[in-house]
Amino acid sequence: MKIAIASGKGGTGKTTVAVNLALALGNAQLLDCDVEEPNCNLFLGFNLKKEEDVNITVPEVDSGKCTLCGKCAEFCQYNAIAKLPRSLMLFPKLCHGCGGCVLVCPENAIIEEKRSIGILEKGTSERFNIELLQGTLNIGEPMASPVIRQLKAHIDESTVAIIDSPPGTACPVIASVAEMDYCVLVTEPTPFGLNDLILAVDVVRQLDILFGVVINRHGLGDGRVEEYCQSEGVPILMKIPYDRKIAILYSKGIPFIEQMPVWKESFRGMYEDICKHVSCKGDF
Ligand code: SF4
Ligand code: SF4
Repeated sequence: MKIAIASGKGGTGKTTVAVNLALALGNAQLLDCDVEEPNCNLFLGFNLKKEEDVNITVPEVDSGKCTLCGKCAEFCQYNAIAKLPRSLMLFPKLCHGCGGCVLVCPENAIIEEKRSIGILEKGTSERFNIELLQGTLNIGEPMASPVIRQLKAHIDESTVAIIDSPPGTACPVIASVAEMDYCVLVTEPTPFGLNDLILAVDVVRQLDILFGVVINRHGLGDGRVEEYCQSEGVPILMKIPYDRKIAILYSKGIPFIEQMPVWKESFRGMYEDICKHVSCKGDF
């Protein structure tokens, strides 16, 4: 079972849900795909070890062979190559590594070079019975999706994999949520929470992925998120209250199921609901 934990906006409690769900289940993989700011390990304190680099290929031009025909620059949809009067200018950080410029060059003047954009790390601990895999995008790099895709290649299909997605609804979110069995959308009962939930629901519907909602800080704000879920037929999987003890544990980096064991059962119950939802293909 592969479950993505996502949210239309940052700061809703997505990582809290991902970490507590993984710990409540045990024997699970937790993949931190929020590669621009991975923070699951703030709650776990695992000893992380580097697994591998994440590289993309970028073009390198042999100026001795290049006739400045400009076909590569015309082809590149990402404006990663510009033809100047006497040379080509490359912008490696805009390159998506599609390899198209290599194919269209009539002089075979372009070769592909590897460029490191991030790393993958893995951690285990004696305290927690889960495996943590974390992707980290190098500072200043703009493309998170290749790191996320390489991280997801490490999913162990024989176990439960919990994916902590980046926030928002852009490409990195789609890279994390795509091909998951289920997506949990975490929101909060505020106007911003509702607005960004509606955007996130649109994304998961277009990806044709089953989903449900967790309302965090329930009791704060108003009832419009619940009204929206009811009117759209979206299941509310869990409501986590706006609770001082949970907030204090969060501020200390302690997963709240550790000290509030009743919530361990609630997260396990949520997982069972997700399994039912998946097994009956959404007819929940
Ligand atoms: S590999 Fe693709 S994205 Fe990169 S410069 Fe060439 S055409 Fe553009
Ligand atoms: S397509 Fe090849 S020959 Fe033409 S400008 Fe690009 S690198 Fe030079």
